[in-house]
Amino acid sequence: MTPGLGGVPRIVVLTGAGISAESGVPTFRDAGGLWEGHRVEDVATPEAFEQDPDTVQRFYDARRRAVASVAPNPAHDALAALERELGDDLLVVTQNIDDLHERAGSTRVLHMHGELGRVRCLACEARSEAPGDLLPGPPCQNCGERMLRPDVVWFGEMPYGLDEIDLALAGCETFVAIGTSGAVHPAAGFVLTASAFGAETLELNLAGSEITSFFAESRLGLASLVVPEWVGEVLREGR
Ligand code: NAD
Repeated sequence: MTPGLGGVPRIVVLTGAGISAESGVPTFRDAGGLWEGHRVEDVATPEAFEQDPDTVQRFYDARRRAVASVAPNPAHDALAALERELGDDLLVVTQNIDDLHERAGSTRVLHMHGELGRVRCLACEARSEAPGDLLPGPPCQNCGERMLRPDVVWFGEMPYGLDEIDLALAGCETFVAIGTSGAVHPAAGFVLTASAFGAETLELNLAGSEITSFFAESRLGLASLVVPEWVGEVLREGR
C-alpha cells in the first residue's frame, strides 16, 4: 500500500521476513546474510543496479515469481482477522516486499520497503503495478520509456511512510514486532520510539533478536503459532 492510511491506530504491528518464512519465502539473516544465495550489496543497492541492472532485475523477477506461487500462512491470517475486529485501530507496517498480508485480507498495510508487485519509472517517476518480469524491459505505462525498476527500497534509500509511521508509533498503545531480526534500520529503532511514548512492547520471533532487550516482553516460537495465540488474547481481552 501507499502511505496515507490516516488516523492513529491503537496497535502498530511491525512485520519482517520471519512472518513469511513458513509460507516458503526465505529470510536472509537465517541464511548467513545471503538473500537467495546473493550478497545484499550485489542485488539490493542502487550501486548494484547501476553496475549490473540485468542481474538485479533477474533477481527481483525471480522473487516476484516465487512469491506468486506461495500462500499466506496462519500468522498473516491472524493479523487479517485482527484488522476485521479493530479496523482503523490496527496498522501493519511491513518490511516485506511480498504481498502475503494483502492476500490474507489485510488492507491497512504500509510497505515501508516497497512492493515486489509494483514498479517505478526512472524516466517519469510514475509508480504502477508490475507488468510481470522487468527483463528484457517492458515500457512504462505512463511515458513509454523502458526504464522501469522494482518499486522496492534498497539499502541506502529512504523507506516509504516514515512520517506516518512516526505518528503511529507516538500515539499507539501497543507495539508488536513479528519475525524481524532488528538488523535493518530505521525499523530496528521503532520499539524505542514506541516505548519512549509509553506503548506496551512485545516481540514475537523464532529466536532472540538483536533488539530483544528493548521489548517489555518477548515470546519465542513459530509465527504460525505465536501470532494467532497473541491475536486470540487481544480479541478475548478486548484490548
Ligand atoms: P531478517 O531475514 O533479517 O530476519 C528474519 C527474522 O525472522 C529472524 O529474527 C528470525 O529469527 C525470524 N524468523 C525466521 N523464521 C521465523 C518463523 N517461522 N517465525 C517467526 N520468526 C521467524 O528479516 P528482516 O528483519 O525483515 O530484515 C530483512 C530485510 O530483507 C527486510 O528489509 C526485507 O525487506 C527484506 N526481505 C524481505 C522478504 C520478504 O518480503 N518476505 C524476504 C527476505 C528479505
